[in-house]
Amino acid sequence: MLQEAMIQVRDLSYTYDSGRPGETTALSGVDLEIRRGEFVAIAGPNGSGKSTLARHFNALLLPTRGQVLVDGLDTALPENLWEIRRRVGMVFQNPDNQIVSTLVEEDVAFGPENLGIPPPEVRERVEEALVLAGLSRFRQHAPHLLSGGQRQRLALAGVLAMRPACLVLDEPTAMLDPAGRRELLETLQRLNRTQGTTVVLVTHYMEEAALAGRVIVMAAGKIALDGPPEEVFARARQLEELGLELPAPAEIARGLKRRGFFMPGVPLSVHDLVQVVKGLAQGRGS
Ligand code: ADP
Repeated sequence: MLQEAMIQVRDLSYTYDSGRPGETTALSGVDLEIRRGEFVAIAGPNGSGKSTLARHFNALLLPTRGQVLVDGLDTALPENLWEIRRRVGMVFQNPDNQIVSTLVEEDVAFGPENLGIPPPEVRERVEEALVLAGLSRFRQHAPHLLSGGQRQRLALAGVLAMRPACLVLDEPTAMLDPAGRRELLETLQRLNRTQGTTVVLVTHYMEEAALAGRVIVMAAGKIALDGPPEEVFARARQLEELGLELPAPAEIARGLKRRGFFMPGVPLSVHDLVQVVKGLAQGRGS
């Protein structure tokens, strides 16, 4: 039976033991459940524990205390490792660390080939992953000739060829230009919508977090806020205290509100903001 919960985190604490005096407690007492098909953004200031948390989702790190279950499988049990890595694919900040071949399609085939999957199915998976990542026409290209955004989508295609139920992406747009960021985000939204893939996106861009269905804000190794973006970004004061900005449309609306304009909610996109401003203009005209 399919588990409705993709990832369950219970009372998770993690301490880095660097071997030097003074350990770093990166996570303390985190409880969290991510359901299948959710699109979750994990935001928070630098050093708040976002990466450390994400690395627990495919057993790259194991709890110092507490428990992490992936599709019901305990990450602390070595016998579960293979199944967990099959279900949860990770994409990191620098795509070049994940690209191994000199030809796009060979690069995407690398993972499934290593799993010992028969060649006809490998070809099918490569085809599917290239389409999903929007890279079909680059199949015969050399990865190093692609743009940064395309290379990150190639890293994503390599992970998609493993057909994971869940994607965990740790600051995947940090090295991309705005166009590359937009393309990657659109790809993730499409995967989530059409394939039902669970997406966990670690990001420090609030505009990206606003695109998720749920935003988790980390602060000092704990969850500070967790809810739909409209709720989380309504907590402007709290976010400010954490040193976080609002998405630009929400910040503009906040400025208008301070000047006495009525704001019906928190606009998270330019489109929403335009609607709000239109409403204000009409209100004044009437
Ligand atoms: P974020 O992703 O939010 O920037 P991290 O999870 O990378 O936060 O880090 C959380 C805390 O753990 C920080 O205090 C950081 O300095 C510390 N940390 C991260 N990686 C290591 C490491 N490999 N060794 C020791 N401390 C680390």
